[in-house]
Amino acid sequence: CSKAEGRNRYHFFEPRLQVEVQERKALERDLSHAIENDELELFYQPIIDIANHKIIGMEALVRWFHPSRGQVSPVDFIPVAERMGIIADVGRWVLNQACKQTRQWVDAGYGELTISVNLSPLELARHEDLIESVGDVLERSRLNPTQLQFEVTESAVMDNPREAAITLGILRNQGIRIAIDDFGTGYSSLAYLKRFPVDKIKIDRSFIIDLDSRDGNAAIVRAVVFLARSFGMAVNVEGIETEMQLERIVSEGVDEVQGFYFSKPIPASDFEVLLKSNVTTPFDVSFGGNSRP
Ligand code: C2E
Ligand code: MG
Ligand code: MG
Ligand code: MG
Repeated sequence: CSKAEGRNRYHFFEPRLQVEVQERKALERDLSHAIENDELELFYQPIIDIANHKIIGMEALVRWFHPSRGQVSPVDFIPVAERMGIIADVGRWVLNQACKQTRQWVDAGYGELTISVNLSPLELARHEDLIESVGDVLERSRLNPTQLQFEVTESAVMDNPREAAITLGILRNQGIRIAIDDFGTGYSSLAYLKRFPVDKIKIDRSFIIDLDSRDGNAAIVRAVVFLARSFGMAVNVEGIETEMQLERIVSEGVDEVQGFYFSKPIPASDFEVLLKSNVTTPFDVSFGGNSRP
């Protein structure tokens, strides 16, 4: 390999690398202004009680509407916010917005709704910040602490078990609910349930996807429900997309469900339309095929 070739290769790759670095810097710069520029928005996905087919709460899912890139997924920008050290700011904005909105809906007579907010592993580790903003937000929104639920993943807990245990303990002592998100995708799923008392398990969507075809997944759901019951925890199943999946889930005895079958995450104004009909009518008439006489 000649010197000239080596140089060519170097020159061939360098611009691309530079473009990537510039891209990333641009994204970081834009994200650092996203809150003040009012570019973040919360979407809400209904959480439905299996027992009475009503919306009992919602999960807040953040969206970034970038002026030129359009809608950026949280999967893409939450990690950037974590790397940049601004995840606490994003998290505080989300929590504040979510609780403010919930207060409005409770005041409008849509019931004692529960709001579920996702927590980054870093927020869990920096608990002073979190505890402080939680106190502020609950006071300002006058929500009952039991109406607020945080979702944390298994890996978030296991990244930093000692800190996580402290943070979760403080939150739970205040009455705030804790749910384990994406349950079954992380590691040591079973052992830590005893050490980290939580209120709810959210079974990951991947176990639901081919519930229709694979018996193995039904057995997993059944086992998790059994396990959760022995620990006194509730079970949520997320990612229900078909009536068949719903029927299978109902027969496994889970408590609540979410999924595109009911609704995708939607803007607040659209969610309010769902809430309006929820007051008078069960969410979905075809619910498990047995919702009405
Ligand atoms: P997650 O907390 O597990 O949220 C569930 C994700 O599954 C959401 O994606 C939701 O749109 C999607 N989903 C719900 N039902 C279905 C279904 O039936 N089928 C399919 N295919 N997907 C379904 P989304 O909104 O893109 O959020 C992705 C992840 O980003 C979330 O996963 C959560 O980990 C993170 N995230 C979202 N908002 C926040 C936030 O405010 N703070 C933090 N720290 N993370 C967030
Ligand atoms: Mg979640
Ligand atoms: Mg999840
Ligand atoms: Mg997830």
